[in-house]
Amino acid sequence: MFKRIFFLLFIFISTSFAMELKEFHKNMYMVRGVDGLPSLENKGFMSNAYAILTKEGWVVIDSLSTPELSKEFYKELMKVKKAPVKYLIITHYHPDHWYGASTFKEAGATVIAHKNLNEFYKSPESKMVLEESNKRFGGLYKSVKLIPADIEITDKKEIQVGEYKISIISMTPAHTNNDIVVFIPDEKVLFAGDLVYINRIPFAGDRGASFKNWLKVLKEMENLNPKIILGGHNEPMDQSAIKFTYEYLQYTRDTVKKLKEQGKSIDEIKNYINQNSPYKKYVMYDVFNDPNVYKIYNDLDLEDFEQ
Ligand SMILES: [Zn+2]
Repeated sequence: MFKRIFFLLFIFISTSFAMELKEFHKNMYMVRGVDGLPSLENKGFMSNAYAILTKEGWVVIDSLSTPELSKEFYKELMKVKKAPVKYLIITHYHPDHWYGASTFKEAGATVIAHKNLNEFYKSPESKMVLEESNKRFGGLYKSVKLIPADIEITDKKEIQVGEYKISIISMTPAHTNNDIVVFIPDEKVLFAGDLVYINRIPFAGDRGASFKNWLKVLKEMENLNPKIILGGHNEPMDQSAIKFTYEYLQYTRDTVKKLKEQGKSIDEIKNYINQNSPYKKYVMYDVFNDPNVYKIYNDLDLEDFEQ
């Protein structure tokens, strides 16, 4: 009896975060992480990763949080088609997009990321952040190997892989100081990293983030006129997600600015927003809203200084 219960429990635990590969558009695949912060329970599987199957092989976009997860993702891709991974494109340096990169590098992929990701890689900070995160999350990142980009993006680059023309465009600073997006013009498919969300609060508290420029790059993404938008943390989206993200960032920025100009303190501003924000009901509000408010509050000083 007990043996049977333990057996069932084992099955439940070992399958509760099974990675399911979905084809969301012809030749384009995704795995969808859970909503939340990384933990040992979710194995860090709290972000999405994508892959395009071309006649020459795979193009992978983002590499999940750990080599263990990216290996699982790689295995799923090989079940669809055993073909080389030509490129790994990393949308930005956050662990849930970058830390699984070694799997694809070892499989022979050319790694593409923003130049500023390489600058971070070369700084002592990259190792410190990895060590601290590994301690903070109970050894979750113990097998992570940091991987630099082979090709650096500063503005825009086009590559042809098999039948697909792929544009890689710098959209930074916004969520970080090294955001890039991947656009497939013939299919109107946009891989937007962590720049676009629907019914979920963006994280804008990164040191390199910029609310002001984030609003600007959302307009640039709208000008690409994408039909399908793939983000780091949602199901496939459409252009209404650009609007959602824009309005959240604008509401939060305008409210902080107004209250700061009235002489309110950071705590008074946080309290006011936590009572009145129309965004309270959305996923990750509790985790990300206060850091976002704090970031805007400080950046307004810098903007004053610039003027
Ligand atoms: Zn991110």
